Amino acid sequence: MMATRPRAERVEEVVIVGGGIAGLATALALNRVGKSCLILERWHELRESGAALGLLPNAWRALHALGIAHKLIPNYRIVRRLVSN
Ligand SMILES: Cc1cc2nc3c(=O)[nH]c(=O)nc-3n(C[C@H](O)[C@H](O)[C@H](O)COP(=O)(O)OP(=O)(O)OC[C@H]3O[C@@H](n4cnc5c(N)ncnc54)[C@H](O)[C@@H]3O)c2cc1C
Repeated sequence: MMATRPRAERVEEVVIVGGGIAGLATALALNRVGKSCLILERWHELRESGAALGLLPNAWRALHALGIAHKLIPNYRIVRRLVSN
């Protein structure tokens, strides 16, 4: 006799390991094209590291494509030139 498996309530099409910015952006992009994702993150809560979030033009293009840049722009200062000693 074959054992019956309990039916999953929801079947994810993609499993992403890591809930950092890359994992979250990938999940959002896949969601935009109708794919459901399960993100596996080893930490139970958001953790902060670093001093700021620096975004170069290619990252802004990606955020525009994902449709979330407009939510971030009001909170960001545009740096036009970096100077080092
Ligand atoms: C010390 C430090 C300081 C930094 N400061 C800045 C800064 O000030 N400004 C800035 O713009 N960038 C900064 N960066 C760079 C920035 O952190 C990275 O570019 C960015 O986090 C990369 O995103 P990611 O999603 O690829 O990886 P991560 O942010 O590293 O995300 C990967 C995620 O995957 C999870 N993970 C890994 N393995 C597993 C597993 N086996 N199972 C489940 N989950 C897993 C991790 O817990 C993590 O949450 C800093 C980096 C470091 C190391």
